[in-house]
Amino acid sequence: MIELPSPNFNERASPPDMIVLHYTGMESAKLALDRLCDPEAKVSAHYVIDEDGTVYRLVAEARRAWHAGVSFWKGETDINGASIGIEIVNPGHEFGYRDFPPEQIEALVLLLDDIRDRWDIPDHRILGHSDVAPERKEDPGELFPWAYLAQRGHGLWVEPDLPPQGVMGPPLDIGDVGLGVFSLQSALGKLGYNILAGGPYDDQTKSIVTAFQRHWRPENIDGRADAETRVRLMALLRHVTLLME
Ligand SMILES: [Zn+2]
Repeated sequence: MIELPSPNFNERASPPDMIVLHYTGMESAKLALDRLCDPEAKVSAHYVIDEDGTVYRLVAEARRAWHAGVSFWKGETDINGASIGIEIVNPGHEFGYRDFPPEQIEALVLLLDDIRDRWDIPDHRILGHSDVAPERKEDPGELFPWAYLAQRGHGLWVEPDLPPQGVMGPPLDIGDVGLGVFSLQSALGKLGYNILAGGPYDDQTKSIVTAFQRHWRPENIDGRADAETRVRLMALLRHVTLLME
């Protein structure tokens, strides 16, 4: 662990109970670290993990780092105040998105083991930046190994049985209305996304379905709520409900 203190933080009002994962989205680790420590930039994260597995600590966990921006999850809008932010070095969609190397993910798993020894952070509150800001953000993106992370004990993953083809009807998409759209929006809102049920399948619904797919159905991110997307959403909700009982 390399200490690289950033001046960009303030005090928390309450202990963290959420972890938000990001990619740096810059051409190099050096550029990202410089920016996250630049007082003018007013951004930071608690940790940065380089592609070789080197971990940098920029802000103490007890302090509030500035990584999430305008965000929302389950009624919470001060995501910086509620979370620990981890930046994972990757050029991202803008500069050449690529696989996260095993050394980097191993370092992340060990860091999460460590963080969760100190703070009470449930699996269903380990999220991507795109989950808490679906209309602005795409990170850590569809190459991030959420399924593997869950195997190693962090975050949620489900592999539900799928209904036979055709049983669930065509995918929901922009302009659709009706009970199917209402149920979809309700379920996304119940999971934690910033959406209210009612109204048509609009741009906001599509952004949130896209964010959901980036995290929980990364093989096909088209923003259309097909049967697999909906079955995975229902299975996750059931899982979270069981965890919370
Ligand atoms: Zn981010």
